[in-house]
Amino acid sequence: MPKKYVYSFKEGKKEMKELLGGKGANLAEMTSLGITVPPGFTVTTQVCDVYYKNNRKYPKEVINQIDKKLAELEKEIGKKFGDKKDPLLVSVRSGAAVSMPGMMDTILNLGLNDETVEGLAKKTGNERFALDSYRRFMQMFGDVVLKVEHDKFENILGKTKKAQGVKIDSELGINGLKEVVNKYKALIKEETGKDFPANPKIQLQMAIDAVFDSWNNERAISYRRINEIKGLIGTAVNVQAMVFGNMGNDCATGVAFTRNPSNGEKKFYGEFLINAQGEDVVAGIRTPNTIEELKKIMPGIYNELLEVQKKLETHYKDMQDIEFTIEKGKLYILQTRSGKRTAHAAVKIAVDMVNEGLIAKGDAILRIDPGQLDKLLHKSIDPNANVRIIAKGLPASPGAAVGEVYFTADKAKDMAEIGKKVILVRAETSPEDIEGMHAAQGILTSRGGVTSHAALVSRGMGKTCIVGAEKISVDEQGKKFSIGNRVIKEGDKITLNGTTGEVLLGEVSFVEPELKGEFKTIMEWADSIRKLKVRTNADTPHDSKVALDFGAQGIGLCRTEHMFFDEIRIKAVREMMLADTQEARKKAIDKIMPMQKKDFKEIFKIMDGLPVNIRLLDPPLHEFLPTEKEDIEMLARELNVSVKKINELILATKEFNPMLGFRGCRLGIVYPEISEMQTRAIMEAACECAKEGINTQPEIMIPLTGTMKEYEILHYDLKRISDEIIKKNKVKVDYSIGTMIEIPRACIIADKLAEKAKFFSFGTNDLTQMIFGYSRDDAGKFLPAYIKKGILEKDPFVSIDTEGVGYLMELGVKKARKVNPKIKIGICGEHGGDPSSIKFCHNLGLNYVSCSPFRVPIARLAAAQAALEEKR
Ligand code: PEP
Ligand code: MG
Repeated sequence: MPKKYVYSFKEGKKEMKELLGGKGANLAEMTSLGITVPPGFTVTTQVCDVYYKNNRKYPKEVINQIDKKLAELEKEIGKKFGDKKDPLLVSVRSGAAVSMPGMMDTILNLGLNDETVEGLAKKTGNERFALDSYRRFMQMFGDVVLKVEHDKFENILGKTKKAQGVKIDSELGINGLKEVVNKYKALIKEETGKDFPANPKIQLQMAIDAVFDSWNNERAISYRRINEIKGLIGTAVNVQAMVFGNMGNDCATGVAFTRNPSNGEKKFYGEFLINAQGEDVVAGIRTPNTIEELKKIMPGIYNELLEVQKKLETHYKDMQDIEFTIEKGKLYILQTRSGKRTAHAAVKIAVDMVNEGLIAKGDAILRIDPGQLDKLLHKSIDPNANVRIIAKGLPASPGAAVGEVYFTADKAKDMAEIGKKVILVRAETSPEDIEGMHAAQGILTSRGGVTSHAALVSRGMGKTCIVGAEKISVDEQGKKFSIGNRVIKEGDKITLNGTTGEVLLGEVSFVEPELKGEFKTIMEWADSIRKLKVRTNADTPHDSKVALDFGAQGIGLCRTEHMFFDEIRIKAVREMMLADTQEARKKAIDKIMPMQKKDFKEIFKIMDGLPVNIRLLDPPLHEFLPTEKEDIEMLARELNVSVKKINELILATKEFNPMLGFRGCRLGIVYPEISEMQTRAIMEAACECAKEGINTQPEIMIPLTGTMKEYEILHYDLKRISDEIIKKNKVKVDYSIGTMIEIPRACIIADKLAEKAKFFSFGTNDLTQMIFGYSRDDAGKFLPAYIKKGILEKDPFVSIDTEGVGYLMELGVKKARKVNPKIKIGICGEHGGDPSSIKFCHNLGLNYVSCSPFRVPIARLAAAQAALEEKR
C-alpha cells in the first residue's frame, strides 16, 4: 500500500496535529462534530519534509493522491475545477503543528482564469464579485507564488481607484476591476517573462509548492527561533472549497473569540466585515464592526454562531479563536484554534473554567505560561499607548519605568530626593551605584548581561532594568547618551519597557499590576501540587517582606555584601581594609557588626518560622573601594589617611581575573575576622530573636568552596563561634552550616562536603561561568551571536545548560545524597526563577529553588507544572 500523503477533512481528528498541522486537524475535528466547514483536504507535514529532503520535489504518488482528493471534492461540491460554466474554486493555506499566525502564505480564489471568471459571473449573476475575486487571486498568487512585489499590485489598484474617483476597494466598479485585472496580467508578464498560468491544476501545484516554500521564509524562521518552536518537520497544506464573504451585502467574514482575549471576560468577542474576504479584516483597510452588531444585522446567523462557539469551547475545553464566513446567508466556519491571550486573561480564563467544571485544576495550572506572569507583577506599558522605540537591550528586570535621565548614582539620588522620577543610565553599574539604583525608577546600561550587577540588583529590588543596550553610547562627562545621531541629554524623559528591553522616547502611560482574585487562586492551587519549595534571594527587610507576600517560604540567599553598600557602612568596610594593625581592623569591624546584626534581626522577624540562608562575604574586596578621583580624595579626608595609601590599596587589590581571584571563602580563610564578625552578627541576632519568641532558622553559607580543607577550616570556626553564642545566651536556635556549590570541583567532591555540610545551594551563576569559561559580565559581547548561529540554544546564564552544568549538578546531588540522604539542596543562582530550569531542578529532586522576590509566583507555578508533568 502506498503511503498516505493526503487526508480529506472527513479522515482526520484533532489529535493528528503533527501530521495534519493545527489547522488541518481542527478542520477535520469540526467536520466530525457536524459543524459546517467547507469541504477539503490536507497535504501532510510529511510531504513538506520529503519536499525539502528531495531538493524541493516529492514523489508522483503525492500528485496522484492530490488529484484523487480533488476529484472527491468536485463530486461532493458538484462543481468541477476549471469548469467554464460553474467552476470549483479553492483556498490553499498553510498550517503547521504549532500555530505561527501570519508567518506563512495563503492563496484564496484559486481556479480562476479568463474563462472561469466569466462562468463565475454568470452563475452568481454578479460580475463585480467575480472580477473582484479574480483580481484578489492574481494579486495573492502573483505575490506569494510568482514573487512579484506586493507593492506593485497595490500601486496599480491605488492608481485605478484614484482614476475612478473611489476611496475603498469595494467601491471599485466592473470597468475599474477589468482594468486592474489587465494591468495585473501585464505586470506579471513583465516581471516574470511569462503569462499568468491559466490552468487551475498548474495553479494548484504551484500554490502548494509555494506554501511549502514559505515554511522556510525569513519571517517563519525568525518566528520559530523567537518562540523556541523546535522539532517540527514542516507545514501541512490545506486545500478547501471556497466560500465567499464578498458576494454582496448578505455576505460577511469575521474573526471571533469565545472569551475576551484581553481581560478574560466570559463574553463572545469579535468583529466582522460585510461583503469582504478574510484579508480585509486583517489588513485593517476598513474598520470592522463589533460582533454585537451582527446580532442586529443577521440575528439568525448570530445565534447560530453563538451556538457554534459554545460547542467548540466546550469540546476543546479552551478559549477558541474562530474564523467564519457568511455566504448568502449561510454560516461557514473556516478555522478554530486555541486563542492567544494576555497574562491577565490567561489566569482569569483558567480559573473560570475550573469553576465552570470544564477543566481540572491541574489543567488550569498547565495552561498558564509562567513567564507570562511577570506581566502581572509589574506596572506595564499601556498597550494602547503610542511609542517610539529608540534602542533595544536585554530585558533584565520586567515592568515599566519612566523618568528623567541622569548619569551618576549621586545625581540620580539627589534628583530623586527633590521628588523627580529618575532613570539611571550607566555604561555599567557597580556596587557603589546602589543608592542611585535604589532611588531610580529604572536602570539602563549599555553593557552587561542578564546576570550583570545591574540586572541582579534591579531584579532583587523589583526595579525595571534594561542592560547591554550596546547601540547606546553613554557619555557621563558630557551628561548625555547617544544612539546614532539622536542625543538624549540629562533631564530628558525616557521610558523603559523592562519586559521587552525597549527604550522609548519621552513619557509613556502605564497600567497597574493586579495581584488579587484569580491570580491568588491559581497560586494556591499551584502550592497544593508542587513538591519544590520556593524561597527568595533577598538582602533587605523590604525585599524579604515583598517576597513573603508573594509566597516565599524563606530566604535562599542573603548576599551580605549588598548590606554594606550604604554610605556609613561602606565607609566602615573601607576603614577595615585600610587598617594597618589587627587592632585597627577590629575597631572597624566592630562598627559594622551592630549594623549587620540589626539587619539580620529584622529579616528573621519577617521570616518568623522560615529558614533564612545567609551567605558570608563573597565579592573581591576591590569592589568596595572608590574608583573616582574625587571619591578617593574624600575618603582620604574622612578617614584621615593619605590619598597615596588608598591608591596603593587599590593597586594591591586589583586583579586580572577578579571573578577567579581573591573572593568567596578565600576571604574568610585569609581574613578570619570578617567571617567571625558575620557569624557573630547572625547568631547574636538569632539568639535575641529567639528570646523574643521568634522562631529563627539561620543557615550560614560558605561561598565558593572548592576544596574540603577550605570548607572544614571555616565550618569548624563558624560552628565554634555559633555554639559559644548560643551557650552564652542560653536559648535554642536551630542553625546549620553549609556551602554554595558554584565551582565545578565542588560538584566532584560533593560526597566529601556532604559529610559535614547540612545543606548545599547551587550557585549556578558562577557554576555556569566556570563550566563554560564565559565571564558572566562579558558574555553579552558574544552570546547573542552564538545563539543566532545555533552554537548555543539559549543563554546559559538564563536557562540551565542541562548537558554541562546540569550534568555536574546531577553528579553533585547523587554523590551528596549517597552519604547524606537528608542533606537539604537548593539553587540560588538566577536560574532559580527560570521556568525551564525550575523543571530541571524538580526532576533532579532538589528541595527548593530560590529567586528574586518578583519571580516567586513564577517559580511557584513552574514548580507545580513540573510536578504535574512528571505525574502525567
Ligand atoms: C551564583 O554564583 O549563582 C550566586 C548565586 O552567587 P553570586 O551571583 O552572588 O555570585
Ligand atoms: Mg556566586
